Amino acid sequence: MAESQLETYEMELVPCTLCGGESFTDCITGAKDLYNHLNGEFNVMRCDNCDFVLTNPRPTRETIGYFYPDSTGYYQPETITPKTTMKERILQSLLANRHGYQLPRLPKIVDALVGWYWHTKIRLNHFPDFWRPEARLMDIGCAWGRYLKIMQGYGWDVHGLEFNQQAVDYARNELGLTNVRQGMLEDHAYDDGFFDVVHMSMVLEHLHEPQDALAKIARMIKPDGQVILSVPNFASYEREKFDRYWYALHVPVHLNHFTPVTLRQALDDVGLRATRIIHHKTDRDIINSARNAGNERLASILKCSPVRNILLRAFVSMLARRGRSGRMTVYACKK
Ligand SMILES: [Zn+2]
Repeated sequence: MAESQLETYEMELVPCTLCGGESFTDCITGAKDLYNHLNGEFNVMRCDNCDFVLTNPRPTRETIGYFYPDSTGYYQPETITPKTTMKERILQSLLANRHGYQLPRLPKIVDALVGWYWHTKIRLNHFPDFWRPEARLMDIGCAWGRYLKIMQGYGWDVHGLEFNQQAVDYARNELGLTNVRQGMLEDHAYDDGFFDVVHMSMVLEHLHEPQDALAKIARMIKPDGQVILSVPNFASYEREKFDRYWYALHVPVHLNHFTPVTLRQALDDVGLRATRIIHHKTDRDIINSARNAGNERLASILKCSPVRNILLRAFVSMLARRGRSGRMTVYACKK
């Protein structure tokens, strides 16, 4: 993800990022940049050979910075809640009882009573589901370091990569995360098998060479390490319903549009195996998609608290159970 003050951009037509195929079928045409309202219309195509979906043509690596004009605002730090609440104590106890974290435990009865709920929550919060002494965790695209700071509190030796220098400075100077470096995977070398866990949230869809990144990540983890990735789900109800107005389509900076099937394939191709895909229960994206589509009335109805708290949440939970919600997290290991 580049950033700059570019005045224009160049487009390139590329073969399928996943299989190299050159025959495509249009999925979405004439989609616009609905975040920054910059000019241009973009097409999203499906590869006829492997079903991978990509923005094509796409802005070149050298000029895509044109579409990241205001990324500093994205990195505004927020407060990290102190770990004193009962919710937090239950979470810590579950991590200790079920995943071997060295954290205070509550009586087992608490785990038995609420574990089913919190176990889902833990995974959605991107916790590795194991812990080892001196275990190293890398967060690629770590922004200002929120996830790393939280994971450090749970006993991980944390490392990060982030493109935005201002965010790197905050992570290093304000949060004391000394192992956060500026740049992306291509800018730094790590020994093979250096990390127990590599985490990368909402980054893969932005990369010009996602398979190169996944291959590097596969080499970076230990033989028994874990990869945790989040991406939007192109096979979601929201995408079908809102099409070019789908909030997480985010063209042209989202270059790769994964489905559960193509995400598993992308991992498989670099020697990783998806062990579980978790579908998020996010209601905000549906409201934003309605607004993108110019349907303010629907957006206001959905935002109205009884509708949102009961109906919309129940609907999104149903979509998540069926693998049809708008975002997903995959846990993967080496094959
Ligand atoms: Zn393909």
